[in-house]
Amino acid sequence: MPRSADAIVIGAGIIGCAISFELAKRGRRVVCVEKLPAAGYGPTGASSAIVRTHYSTEVGVAMAYEGYAYWRDWQDYIGTRDENGFARFVDSGAIIIDNPDYDLEKAVGLFDRAGIDYERWDLDALTARLPIFDRGAFWPPKRPDEDAFWDESEKDIAGALFMPQSGFVPDPQLATHNLMRAAENRGAEFLFRREVTEIFQSGGRVKGVKLGDGERIEGPVVVNAAGTYSSALNRMAGVDEGMAVKTRSLRVEVHCVSAPEGFDFEEHGCYVFDGDTGVYFRPEVGNTILVGSEDPECDPRQWIDDPADYDREITEAQWRAQVFRLAKRIPSLPIPARPSGLVSLYDVSDDWIPIYDKSDLPGFYMAIGTSGNQFKNAGVAGNLMAELIEACEGGQDHDREPVCVSGRYTGCRLDAGFFSRRRELHHESSFSVNG
Ligand SMILES: Cc1cc2nc3c(=O)[nH]c(=O)nc-3n(C[C@H](O)[C@H](O)[C@H](O)COP(=O)(O)OP(=O)(O)OC[C@H]3O[C@@H](n4cnc5c(N)ncnc54)[C@H](O)[C@@H]3O)c2cc1C
Repeated sequence: MPRSADAIVIGAGIIGCAISFELAKRGRRVVCVEKLPAAGYGPTGASSAIVRTHYSTEVGVAMAYEGYAYWRDWQDYIGTRDENGFARFVDSGAIIIDNPDYDLEKAVGLFDRAGIDYERWDLDALTARLPIFDRGAFWPPKRPDEDAFWDESEKDIAGALFMPQSGFVPDPQLATHNLMRAAENRGAEFLFRREVTEIFQSGGRVKGVKLGDGERIEGPVVVNAAGTYSSALNRMAGVDEGMAVKTRSLRVEVHCVSAPEGFDFEEHGCYVFDGDTGVYFRPEVGNTILVGSEDPECDPRQWIDDPADYDREITEAQWRAQVFRLAKRIPSLPIPARPSGLVSLYDVSDDWIPIYDKSDLPGFYMAIGTSGNQFKNAGVAGNLMAELIEACEGGQDHDREPVCVSGRYTGCRLDAGFFSRRRELHHESSFSVNG
């Protein structure tokens, strides 16, 4: 007898684990298949795991605010013991540095509509919290190999916006493990070091998957939560032709440096979105700082054809670009002799907004194109996908009559049609990692 399930989830990153948990809660027998040795070992484990609410669309902001509430309530939401402990959420707040590329008034309008708190900070307020910050304006972002990079700033930044309802999760892999244990507690089964190599169908419906070792798992529902392999899985299912929005992999680097001596950035720091210099950064354990690129125009985008085959070594050029830009904002930053950090991939959709949807093959669903910004939304996405799957399996035509989901915590109304594979691109998107 082949193994069977009510739902097969492909991928045990944070999104696949959250969907597995939410489907299991609704009484489905879930099998989650992961080719790596453990949950969250792919790009999820490399995530900066910043939980912030500033997105460029109203839906994006509402979803992120709902996502923040999951992290505040994490232990109760998980609802079961994990022998490794619970992932910690550091409620540090977030700062946006004012710059000409960022429309602060639009952000404030979106926060007002969602009921999100914020404070407008002048430079005294900013440097009272972070006295290690330089007040200079350096916009537009540049790379150290440009002469202009080394110019002194001629004026100050205008100020900043502080959002207290933001933070980060220091251990994204542990958070994913928590979700896996929560799903198992509801009866889900996880298969590791097993790869889905075929998706089989009959009578115009998905019927299950075949694994690399030849085993077949039968089930009426299959969910593509394969992260950077999302487009390969869609091709395997034969559903890519029906997609107006596609996904592809982008290579990214995140670096780690010590905080300036004598300043406890771990205690007093927070997530900072510094579009003026073109980096984001946040505190990391051991009084270090994680720094990534905010995707400014001067940073070339490295699209990857095969997510199994890309350069996993930090490059000197990108390390200098990110760390030296951080040193513009924090001039006392000690520049390490040797680069350290990580290299990973984003699964990017054409408009940098995820695809949470059904497909043209009945029973085959997708939660993909997370575009470097959906770790924070895993709980919301799990709930949204489970509601969408139950509605479609119950006969609702989601393409004509989109499923709407109420946020469990904030009560926000999320129209899942916003995330449709058939949408016209959302032109209000930032078309960057900011979503
Ligand atoms: C460097 C970096 C920094 C980031 N920072 C942030 C941040 O600060 N805040 C934020 O909200 N988001 C952030 N993100 C984005 C966030 O981490 C992702 O959106 C999220 O982790 C995606 O989760 P996922 O489960 O979709 O994908 P993944 O983690 O990629 O998981 C997919 C899994 O599917 C498995 N798989 C693929 N194909 C198969 C197959 N055929 N058979 C079996 N298994 C398969 C893979 O092995 C993988 O483990 C960041 C991402 C990166 C890379």
